[in-house]
Amino acid sequence: MIKLNNIHKSYVMGNSKLHVLKGINLDIEQGEFVSIMGSSGSGKSTLLNILGMLDNHDQGSYYLNNQQIKNMSEKKAAQLRNELVGFVFQSFNLISFKNAMENVALPLYYKGVKRKKRNIIAMEYLDKLGLKDWAEHMPNEMSGGQKQRIAIARALISKPKLILADEPTGALDTTTSYEVMEILKEINNDGITVILVTHEHDIASMTKKIIRLKDGQIHEIIRNGDLTNFREAYTKELETI
Ligand code: ADP
Ligand code: MG
Repeated sequence: MIKLNNIHKSYVMGNSKLHVLKGINLDIEQGEFVSIMGSSGSGKSTLLNILGMLDNHDQGSYYLNNQQIKNMSEKKAAQLRNELVGFVFQSFNLISFKNAMENVALPLYYKGVKRKKRNIIAMEYLDKLGLKDWAEHMPNEMSGGQKQRIAIARALISKPKLILADEPTGALDTTTSYEVMEILKEINNDGITVILVTHEHDIASMTKKIIRLKDGQIHEIIRNGDLTNFREAYTKELETI
């Protein structure tokens, strides 16, 4: 589903250049459950944004569903993004003046679905995530966990094949984090590829493949949550920042 070959990405600020991704090679198949780890500033969000076509890479090739992303028109990229990808963010990114149902229905609005129909579908997704009774509530009346479930429902409503989640549990307590991870696991069980960024080992170990970024490259890939050696090394790394 995802094929990255020698991906480079730099940010230019004034006359200085920050080389963030320095040759990323990565294959992810449909149905995988993957986490990306690495210290703060290591390029995790940059990589996720490139995967989601929210940002461009400078060098190398990226194939998503066998389609080369580079030089794709913005219109084509937006179309592919709408049809394939759902996003979940640490800060939920809900619209504060829309209620839960309207937030979930938003992607369908952009697809031109009529209000009545999109609200019916949004209610189905709210129900799936156990939030039917919260449909009329505004984001500021809900807990962090509820907000993240709203954001997940919104990501699912366009039936994506890929969910990209940037620190989805970063603003949640442990119990709520585990609940959100359970939801992501169920989504993955339905065959949707899930890629998430996290700082936390326990969260990463719930995924089936951990990709560890370091110095702009993939430092190691750990399968099936085998963190025995990794935890110690990573803790040391965190202590040095
Ligand atoms: P992470 O998600 O691993 O914490 P990021 O991918 O957000 O790291 O950022 C990697 C580096 O690139 C950081 O040093 C960050 O400050 C820098 N960076 C990220 N986005 C931009 C941008 N739009 N413009 C300039 N620098 C950026
Ligand atoms: Mg980040």
